Amino acid sequence: MKSYREVLEMNIDKRRQLVNITPRVEQALQKSGIREGLCLVNAMNITASVFINDDESGLHSDYEKWLEKLAPEKPYNQYAHNGYEDNADAHLKRTIMGREVVVAVTNGKLDFGTWEQIFYGEFDGKRTKRALIKIIGE
Ligand code: ZN
Repeated sequence: MKSYREVLEMNIDKRRQLVNITPRVEQALQKSGIREGLCLVNAMNITASVFINDDESGLHSDYEKWLEKLAPEKPYNQYAHNGYEDNADAHLKRTIMGREVVVAVTNGKLDFGTWEQIFYGEFDGKRTKRALIKIIGE
């Protein structure tokens, strides 16, 4: 069995943003040479997510509104976690949106369902963060 590991650096200058990282994961899969197996992608920070959904701007704006209803950023003093930090909302958003995805690798390609794309969801940006890609197979 082969295995391949790559860390993506994410530099997001806004507090919150969704980035389609599918092309970067496809590049990693090409580099790995793996044709059959599994591809894991996870956020390496507890205020960011990796998830799979549609690359459609209306949906992305719906996510922003929905997450702000569930865990509004402000007022900061509504959260026990805030004090030294102001990112309690980002931890909660990350929990809802998930830590990682696993995609089957078939015939050297990511074996997606219809319209599926991999997103990095940043909820407390303005600093460098990382996402891990781990691919195993043969
Ligand atoms: Zn925190």
